[in-house]
Amino acid sequence: MPRPSLPRECMKCGCFLGPNDPSAACVLFYQTVNMGKQRSSKSRRLHFCSRCAVAVSFSNAPPASHPIEVEAYYSLQDLVSSDPAVNEMGLENLRRIVNERRQELKQLGEPEFLPPQKRLKEAS
Ligand SMILES: [Zn+2]
Repeated sequence: MPRPSLPRECMKCGCFLGPNDPSAACVLFYQTVNMGKQRSSKSRRLHFCSRCAVAVSFSNAPPASHPIEVEAYYSLQDLVSSDPAVNEMGLENLRRIVNERRQELKQLGEPEFLPPQKRLKEAS
């Protein structure tokens, strides 16, 4: 029986990722090499929402002083550039966020302008 997937968050924007939301996952674990009995750390799945996956892959590479981030960056670029559908998912995610923001702004209605208080007259 498959394990139910845990709630996930995007590593970059922190948005909640449901079980059916598109994302790019990176599995990270360490293993000892030539250090006696081989040992492995627990693995962790790190997620980027589709929008952040595309955005990160188009951003500048991390500094060479962060080698793990550099490798993760190039792996993500390989993934995003492998199929236009991956890029399209990021665009759809962005489109949904923009539409949600527009709906929220419409619900706020017209701005209310408050007249300034007449403090100068009150003081005299
Ligand atoms: Zn994100």
